[in-house]
Amino acid sequence: MSRNGFYDSIDESLDSIKADGLWKSERELTSPQGGTVITGGQHVLNFCANNYLGLADDPMIRTAAAAAMDGYGYGMASVRFICGTTDLHRALEVEIAEYLGTDDSISFAACFDANGGVFEPLLAESDAIVSDSLNHASIIDGIRLCKARRYRFATRDMSDLRQQVEIARADGARSVLIVTDGVFSMDGYVADLASICAIADDTDSLVMVDDCHATGLVGPQGRGTPALHGVVERVDIVTSTLGKALGGGMGGFVAARQNVVDLLRQRARPYLFSNALAPGLVGGGRAGLRLAKEGDGLRERLDSNARQFRAEMTKAGFILSGEGHPIIPVMIGDARLASEMADGLLARGVYVTAFSFPVVPKGTARIRTQMCAAHTADDVNRAVAAFVAVGAELGIVAGAA
Ligand SMILES: *Cc1c(COP(=O)(O)O)cnc(C)c1O
Repeated sequence: MSRNGFYDSIDESLDSIKADGLWKSERELTSPQGGTVITGGQHVLNFCANNYLGLADDPMIRTAAAAAMDGYGYGMASVRFICGTTDLHRALEVEIAEYLGTDDSISFAACFDANGGVFEPLLAESDAIVSDSLNHASIIDGIRLCKARRYRFATRDMSDLRQQVEIARADGARSVLIVTDGVFSMDGYVADLASICAIADDTDSLVMVDDCHATGLVGPQGRGTPALHGVVERVDIVTSTLGKALGGGMGGFVAARQNVVDLLRQRARPYLFSNALAPGLVGGGRAGLRLAKEGDGLRERLDSNARQFRAEMTKAGFILSGEGHPIIPVMIGDARLASEMADGLLARGVYVTAFSFPVVPKGTARIRTQMCAAHTADDVNRAVAAFVAVGAELGIVAGAA
């Protein structure tokens, strides 16, 4: 193809994304992230952030981040092993490990990088990875970068999981690693780690959990899905993020046994060939971790908002997905209707996002709401009222009596 032909083909791709109604535009906020944000000059309730504990603009985190920047400067200008490791980086890693109940942890620029780098050093051609079909894109990419044989099980289907592990064993796999999201973010379900660990026990397999939507909010003291299910000791590897409940900054990590973390420090490519986390993010992340650990009050508020929203929306006639998590998808079906619904809600001061194909299967478009501890019961009521009003206009529900 000619040079011009290359650019023409890019234009064709852009046109087809638009023609399919799949164009994602970005709404600009002119305020900090929070329970309420300003966009288009309008104050709106935000129901689509991963800001579960409402810590994204927390004053203590801001102060801690600023203090770290004052003491250690703006950037590291180095990977960790050359001259990019401060005592703050090690303190963060030790605190993460203590929180999640593992020997140690290793930080990355993002959980996308943690998942991208975790598999390749640990597993060889002779090994197998058995992965849930709805696992996050970064897990799928990380698995592609490693030589282990790949098996996939139907999401949350424990009999299929057992069968796929048995097939991997029959194919002669040396080690078998079962990989799951701790929470499936499009559907709002928590993985059944008790059953997964029982299958892992029966088949002498390893277990890895990506707990990005759980760390800080799920389980006792927010210690995640392994703690919720009482399987902290049995889960071999946890990956997660500083970019969601723990303050919403940036940074990912792998928490595991000492020798696993040690090998990742020697071999994980996104760790060896990418910049160390900036001091401000490390200082802010440590404060976020502490606030999450001490955040029973925030988790109670979050749970109460989720229970209220679920109950009121169900009563209003909406069909909801998920269970026991502050991700509450409102199922609409038609992609265009879902996007009209989101527009109507924004006009009424409630910011939500519609998800459609290819992010979710065709015909299952939805509005994925995410609860936040910064919302009051009254905020939740206002959101439900807006859903009912717009839902009635669009013929999705009967409307208020
Ligand atoms: C958000 C998310 C990631 C990516 O985390 P970042 O730190 O933002 O890169 C990975 N896995 C899951 C399941 C996520 O939800």
